[in-house]
Amino acid sequence: MSTKTRYMNVRKQVDEACEQAGRSPQDVLLLAVSKTVDCDEVALAIEGGATAFGENRPDELLRKQAAFPDKSWHFIGNIQSRRIPDIVSAADLIHSVSKAEHLPKIDKAAAKLGKIQPVLIEVNVSGEESKSGLRPEEVLEVIKDAAGLGSVRIQGLMTMAPRADQEAIERSFGGLAKLRDSLQEQLDEEDIDVTLSDISMGMTEDWPQAIELGTTMVRVGRAIFDSSFE
Ligand SMILES: *Cc1c(COP(=O)(O)O)cnc(C)c1O
Repeated sequence: MSTKTRYMNVRKQVDEACEQAGRSPQDVLLLAVSKTVDCDEVALAIEGGATAFGENRPDELLRKQAAFPDKSWHFIGNIQSRRIPDIVSAADLIHSVSKAEHLPKIDKAAAKLGKIQPVLIEVNVSGEESKSGLRPEEVLEVIKDAAGLGSVRIQGLMTMAPRADQEAIERSFGGLAKLRDSLQEQLDEEDIDVTLSDISMGMTEDWPQAIELGTTMVRVGRAIFDSSFE
């Protein structure tokens, strides 16, 4: 099976899962995580219909975005301050803002380029020490502090589920969806002009649960690009 076929199969399964969950397939973006492959494989995924790709290293983001500038490129990796200008220059969406101090730096880099940078806040819902992301109770304050930045748009939340049993995965995804709802309520009450419209959760092993629990973006790598996933 080729990357093209695997992409088409995953998209079909995502569409079916949406229908089963009573959701519209248009409401769930399938982000093809191309971090382990080269441009030839990206081209095959595009043949299968892929339009949006995720990268976790700035150099790869820049290289592949330059090769396929009409596709949408998202940054999903750990952010180092000194690479923020590069990331901002190439990313349509940054999923992985996990430190408050990065937001003013992203704002500055975006202002320089005359763009407004959409971002998601990464949240460590499961509380595992090894995971990056803000603690759930920190997120409101960080959003409020950043709401006045003119060149950053906070557009939602992202999480990674623990590699664990179904229950732990569902607690993590369900927790993020609930957190989004309660944050939105508090932001509205305080008249803060931020709309958390996106939830980025779900990867190769756990995207079906994420669709049931309200994700708007699944980030799938191996099921598309690894030939051992047939
Ligand atoms: C690698 C990666 C993915 C994709 O993981 P797969 O298990 O290959 O689907 C998704 N999100 C992030 C943040 C990643 O680093």
